[in-house]
Amino acid sequence: TKDTQPLIAKGMTMRFGGLTAVNDVSISLRPGEIMGLIGPNGSGKTTLMNMLSGVLEPSSGKFHRGKELLSGLVSYEIADRGIARTFQNIRLFPNLTVHQNVLVAALSTKGGVNAAARADAALERMGVIGHAHDDAGTLSYGDQRRVEIARALACLPSLLFLDEPAAGMNWEETDSLMETLRMLAKELGIGVLLVDHDLKLINQLCDRIAVLNEGHLIAEGSPSEIRNNPAVIEAYLGP
Ligand code: ADP
Repeated sequence: TKDTQPLIAKGMTMRFGGLTAVNDVSISLRPGEIMGLIGPNGSGKTTLMNMLSGVLEPSSGKFHRGKELLSGLVSYEIADRGIARTFQNIRLFPNLTVHQNVLVAALSTKGGVNAAARADAALERMGVIGHAHDDAGTLSYGDQRRVEIARALACLPSLLFLDEPAAGMNWEETDSLMETLRMLAKELGIGVLLVDHDLKLINQLCDRIAVLNEGHLIAEGSPSEIRNNPAVIEAYLGP
């Protein structure tokens, strides 16, 4: 089925006026793997993720899964095809309960039957089921981030895009989030594409890392390959 197929993106390019924010980037993501997307500020990470989730229409480039072309679809159509994401900023409804927040997402995807059960399962997976009936705005920052991932999981994705999921978390919360993400990849077979600034987290968690610099993909490989790549070191440290 298409859920076991990798996402393959070729020649992804995004221009904003005279600025080419993402320039001819080709990457792939397989179910079950955790891929980190790193690069200095402004290198095009969020823009690339926005194109691959249908938030932005690429200036050029195509992405597909199996025989199905996904580029050209809008975000909810891509979500319906098993690709869910979270955003850099928390987007929960603070005055709805945690369960309601996740239910809204579960109801919005195809196969709305059993949405409540899917919401519960997602909250359980993310370790926040104990907060199901609390207002989302009352949770700690780390738990709110977990609820956001639960919202994505309630859509039963096979691929999950996370934009800075550990931003603002202390190391203990970050550590436990890493454990959870490993579980999603290894036990549920979800492919995770992860943008984060925390290189320690990226190195410990990712099977593969892609590095952007000024819109270009400058390297891709295992954490140790990336750590020792001269172009990556230069991009981070400058000449
Ligand atoms: P990163 O996520 O790596 O920090 P971004 O993808 O957010 O980088 O941004 C890449 C570049 O594109 C930056 O120079 C940024 O200012 C620019 N950019 C991003 N979004 C827009 C937009 N909607 N309009 C114009 N420029 C944008």
